[in-house]
Amino acid sequence: MSMIHVSSLYEGYENVEGNPIVRYRKISKSYGDLQVLKEIDLDIYPGEKVAVIGPSGSGKTTLARLLMTLEEPTAGTIEVDGELLWHKRVKGRLTRADEKHLHRVRGSIGMVFQHFNLFPHMTILRNVTEAPIRVLGLSKEEAVERAKIMLDKVGLLDKLDKYPGQLSGGQKQRVAIARALVMRPKVMLFDEPTSALDPELVGEVLTVIKEIAAEGDMAMLLITHEMEFARDVADRILFTDGGKIVEEGSPKQIFENPKSPRLQMFLNRFR
Ligand code: ADP
Repeated sequence: MSMIHVSSLYEGYENVEGNPIVRYRKISKSYGDLQVLKEIDLDIYPGEKVAVIGPSGSGKTTLARLLMTLEEPTAGTIEVDGELLWHKRVKGRLTRADEKHLHRVRGSIGMVFQHFNLFPHMTILRNVTEAPIRVLGLSKEEAVERAKIMLDKVGLLDKLDKYPGQLSGGQKQRVAIARALVMRPKVMLFDEPTSALDPELVGEVLTVIKEIAAEGDMAMLLITHEMEFARDVADRILFTDGGKIVEEGSPKQIFENPKSPRLQMFLNRFR
């Protein structure tokens, strides 16, 4: 595979290889008169960890929700692993994709939300085995085997038979991470995974995410308010403001040498 030079602006990015796993092209999103995202172009490469920081209302969550297929863009295209999310190419022309297509493409994306969205009436084990059985068609035995490996990874193998209501917020979020991982996604999306947690539970969730990130080959898009975490885990950081990516770079560039006044002002709040 030939090396692709992404941009000389991104320190360390000479080493990125192959084609992007996620590709946003001229993505805009409006709610009525309010334009939330303005012609966003973004590539995420296999294995790359990209963190998105920025003030509240700058469009971070919308950027993630479009990739999660929870929202449809007003304009532009998104590709995951070479497949268009919202469109299909028919005889070279773009047409709107049907639900079946969306469902299939969605299968390669793992999602972890602010509110864990576990099934309250199912045990932890069933929460994690449900999708592999239903969506991937694994046998119950195969799904349980996979689920146990993932629950072990997030440190919750001893909670298999419990229900979400019996777990702390941090534990619930770790189950949600295991549930996403069990599908072996090509890209994992974390939308402010710790912002609904009590402060003392944030650390355990960030630690699990860091461990998964360190394993390497899965791309990650992380929306976060945790600056130290972003700095530790990300290969690249995007700063959004007013629906645009105002600045991007390595953690070192972003935190030690922010260029735009808006990013400088934003970071000052955390100092
Ligand atoms: P961030 O995650 O950076 O806080 P969001 O993507 O959540 O930003 O929101 C960006 C803007 O879009 C905000 O002004 C928000 O109020 C608006 N917005 C988000 N979702 C909706 C919606 N479903 N309907 C109308 N406005 C929305």
